[in-house]
Amino acid sequence: MAERFAGRVAFVTGAGSGIGRATASLLALEGARVFAVDVNRDGLSETVGSIRAAGGQADGTHCDVTDPASVQTAVERTVAAFGGLNILVNVAGIGGFLRFEELELADWQRTLAVNMTGAFITTKAALPHLLTPPAGNVVNVASTSALRGVAYAPHYAASKAGLLNLTRSLALEFATRDLRFNCVCPGGVRTPLGRFFIRREDFEAHLIDYAAPPKPGNFADPIDIARIIAFLASDDARMINGAALTADGGTLA
Ligand code: NAD
Repeated sequence: MAERFAGRVAFVTGAGSGIGRATASLLALEGARVFAVDVNRDGLSETVGSIRAAGGQADGTHCDVTDPASVQTAVERTVAAFGGLNILVNVAGIGGFLRFEELELADWQRTLAVNMTGAFITTKAALPHLLTPPAGNVVNVASTSALRGVAYAPHYAASKAGLLNLTRSLALEFATRDLRFNCVCPGGVRTPLGRFFIRREDFEAHLIDYAAPPKPGNFADPIDIARIIAFLASDDARMINGAALTADGGTLA
């Protein structure tokens, strides 16, 4: 396969695990120079180490996407190391089930800070570089939770719906400046995050059973989502802008 990302620099958040790691690895395999960031230092070095071991180009740093100074430093390090920043992939995220009575303001604020405001902060920091040719783009990892209500996870669903409409709004605002913004909306994916979405005894089961995919047990692996992210980030998706690409095996169909 031709290297779709030769000459491109990709900045991937949440790259120390799950979907972020799979995305960083796939983009590097297809020729991108990848700058990986995460708050998980061990996971991050594993990602960077495995990309390099496979012959790819990667660097990375500890970075909390909720902290503008931390993000600014990471973006500057990317540009210093690789000479630019063309593709921004916002994967970092947190979540899990909680009854509304147990959901504290701090949980609400932290979830919105990481899942929604984090993408605002990284986009602001990367923007001058994204606007520098060749045409740049941003892929945000939302969720099917952006597209419907989720019992026991209003904080998560609100953060992802906010992320989706941030994406759509920026897609419109930057369409004339060759900068695309898209979302992937996965259903269930086998990653460490999934353990926070376990149904509890005290939940009304029928309120969350809707989430069962039409093919039982049809959860995605991180690489399935990474392939969709890579497609959206590539020139193959030149005409896709402001999309919410659902990747749930048909659950919402
Ligand atoms: P994961 O837990 O494997 O990876 C998430 C990564 O984000 C972790 O490495 C974590 O350390 C990092 N992170 C968390 N807070 C951060 C912060 N403040 N700054 C930087 N990094 C931070 O989970 P995953 O399933 O790969 O999740 C990736 C994205 O996919 C998330 O946005 C999640 O909401 C979304 N998603 C996951 C599923 C699923 O079923 N796993 C479904 C839909 C959407």
